[in-house]
Amino acid sequence: MKPHGPIPPGFVADEGGMLLIGGRRADTLAGEAGDTPLFVYDGRMLTARVAQWRAAMPDMVQLHYAMKANPYTPLLAHMAAMVDGFDVASGGELQAALASGMTAAHVSFAGPGKRDRELEAAIAAGATLNLESAGEADRALAIGARLGVTPRLAVRVNPDFDLKGSGMKMGGGAKPFGVDAAQVPALVKRLRGAGADWQGFHIFAGSQALDAAAIADTQAQTVALAARLANEAGAVPPLVNLGGGMGVPYFPGDVAVDAAAVGDALGETLGARDAVLGASRFAMELGRWLVAEAGVYLTRIVDRKTSHGETFLVTDGGLHHQLAASGNFGTVIRRNYPIALAGRFGVEPVETVSVVGCLCTPLDRLGDQVALPHGAVGDLVAIFQAGAYGASASPSAFLGQGPAREMLV
Ligand SMILES: *Cc1c(COP(=O)(O)O)cnc(C)c1O
Repeated sequence: MKPHGPIPPGFVADEGGMLLIGGRRADTLAGEAGDTPLFVYDGRMLTARVAQWRAAMPDMVQLHYAMKANPYTPLLAHMAAMVDGFDVASGGELQAALASGMTAAHVSFAGPGKRDRELEAAIAAGATLNLESAGEADRALAIGARLGVTPRLAVRVNPDFDLKGSGMKMGGGAKPFGVDAAQVPALVKRLRGAGADWQGFHIFAGSQALDAAAIADTQAQTVALAARLANEAGAVPPLVNLGGGMGVPYFPGDVAVDAAAVGDALGETLGARDAVLGASRFAMELGRWLVAEAGVYLTRIVDRKTSHGETFLVTDGGLHHQLAASGNFGTVIRRNYPIALAGRFGVEPVETVSVVGCLCTPLDRLGDQVALPHGAVGDLVAIFQAGAYGASASPSAFLGQGPAREMLV
């Protein structure tokens, strides 16, 4: 038997042992969707998460949603009403952000390899471009001049440090992201000299960290770096986007990040900030932490078999929807995501089984030798922490099984 990650707090069952999501029975939701597999997102959990963040963080810090974590249209509309801005990473995400009701002035567009038509769409709409290079800056200025629009431009900084203990390092050393810190002051001077509406700095050092002290330390370094660059550039940044980094517990032994501790430390950091940042606004941009926990992936057992003494529950889902749970999205060692049988939620395990998907590849494993109650053909398996980097981050065209259904409740 191998352990699985912790089931997020807040999920309960009805008297019959059926998992409830947003107060609704999982089997009823699957019926309403028409078929499995299905992602269900709990709107009340999304709302509670934003409230938790606001209670923890200093009032002066704004909250941006990094929509690449989950761009499902109803979820975006739900988030647009609650957060202060969206961070997008493609022209397609830009269109989705604007369609969700978020105002363009509160949309920022980061990411390498922006094409001219994407830069043009952002500039024409009045969104902020987080510039990834000097070359991109040149193209944005030229497009602004051609359109007769003053472009809103921030500089994404490749910091000289990274977020310790983060699952995905986005800064430190040679990176495709951002402009090396040493080159930033000259670029800011050039943007301002060219008449651009300079919006400040975007400094994103890493993702999926659970250690509040490491996040706090990175944020302190980020604020110090922003102050140094502002002084060297001789300009006050209107906005300092501090990045994100707050992760969620996926695996055995993971413990939720202490958001209150991050907020307390950030309050101290900002209270002691350099005078050059006295009038700056600050923002954090979060994807995973805001939406992962609210999502459950429901997949149905279509076959139960034994091979060489091992029991397999074969489901109608798989890595084509939940690549990360199969261990093939940025993890080195495969470990089990939180998993349960939806119809026997909270019931003591009686057997060790491997839950696999319907794709004809050994990579398609959703639970490896996990202890579960007895699972029969027709039962629903629930994979938790499925609200971020699930449906949109998985190869849904692989093997022709088609995309998963999605539902916000
Ligand atoms: C991916 C990304 C995020 C979101 O990261 P999470 O770990 O999901 O919070 C934020 N900002 C940028 C620039 C990103 O690329």
